[in-house]
Amino acid sequence: MTLGAPWALEWVRRCAAVIAEHRVELMTLDRDIGDGDHGENLDRGFQAVLVKLDDAGGLATPADVLKLVATTLISTVGGAAGPLYGTAYLKAAAAVAGRETLDGEALVALLTAARDGIVLRGKAESGDKTMIDAWTPAVDAARTAQNEGRRPAAILAAAADAAEAGALATEPLVARKGRASYLGERARGHRDPGAHSTALLLRAAADTAAAA
Ligand code: ADP
Ligand code: MG
Repeated sequence: MTLGAPWALEWVRRCAAVIAEHRVELMTLDRDIGDGDHGENLDRGFQAVLVKLDDAGGLATPADVLKLVATTLISTVGGAAGPLYGTAYLKAAAAVAGRETLDGEALVALLTAARDGIVLRGKAESGDKTMIDAWTPAVDAARTAQNEGRRPAAILAAAADAAEAGALATEPLVARKGRASYLGERARGHRDPGAHSTALLLRAAADTAAAA
């Protein structure tokens, strides 16, 4: 199995499909503790990415694909999530720049850079009830799997499992960042929409790697 540009393209296409499929669910989560636009924002962004992918030539490496996603999300997705995910994909692209294919070590670097980019931009810490509560367990699980000598698909599966558990674990939390932080105690009992979308995007990565 090789995770090259075709895999990255497949991952991004699956991201677009999964976000479209979960659009209403993400909007409902965001309606509970935000303004309801998370699913719509992300869906618009990934649909724009699909158009750009069709028009683009010369996407020779995973970094080229990730960079196109980044610039498209930054220019088409509003709200908090657009710049945060845009930064994540941009930093992920930089972390694997020039590589034709990604091994386990590169995948860990990609995920770590994405998470670090979101932290740099949004300043959220673990437990603030944001997408970081999905990203950080995912990065940690990926690193552990890599250290155990697991294969790339298993590393991404471990990351996706941890992101899903992390998203679930946002439910009892009070939010300290983003719109949900205005709600105080009323945010308890609701899953953070950004943590949920992060889990969806990482599961898409794992699924495409398993099929590669
Ligand atoms: P907005 O809140 O502007 O409407 P979205 O609804 O698209 O933007 O995205 C909301 C999500 O963004 C939240 O569920 C949370 O995961 C994430 N988020 C908000 N602020 C931050 C932050 N400072 N750091 C990390 N993630 C954040
Ligand atoms: Mg919102």
